Amino acid sequence: MHEMSTMVRLVNQAAGVMKENGAAKALKIVVEVGEMTDIVPDYLHKYFPAAIKDTPLDGAELETHIAQAEAKCLTCGTAFHPEKQYDYRCPACGGIRCRILKGRSVVLSRVVIDDGEG
Ligand SMILES: [Zn+2]
Repeated sequence: MHEMSTMVRLVNQAAGVMKENGAAKALKIVVEVGEMTDIVPDYLHKYFPAAIKDTPLDGAELETHIAQAEAKCLTCGTAFHPEKQYDYRCPACGGIRCRILKGRSVVLSRVVIDDGEG
């Protein structure tokens, strides 16, 4: 179960953003979950209340989005969406060497801060 440690990492990161902005309260954090990770968004939601307890994010909501994976063929340079998790074959040239550009990580996308203006 590394959803809990991932959630704690994201909460720490969000708390850092709040600190940088001098914010006392966050309304919501938005997290992008790459479709090629083994992180289950439902578990992030499940662990979120425990992860934000006694942190500046206490009371905030969690929003998760699935980020589509993107790969780039090293043979012909075509960017494509890997259809299956373990099939990275290039649709243009059939090449099997590619670089995964997106979709393999869980990233903090946005921290919605309560600035006291509504
Ligand atoms: Zn190719």
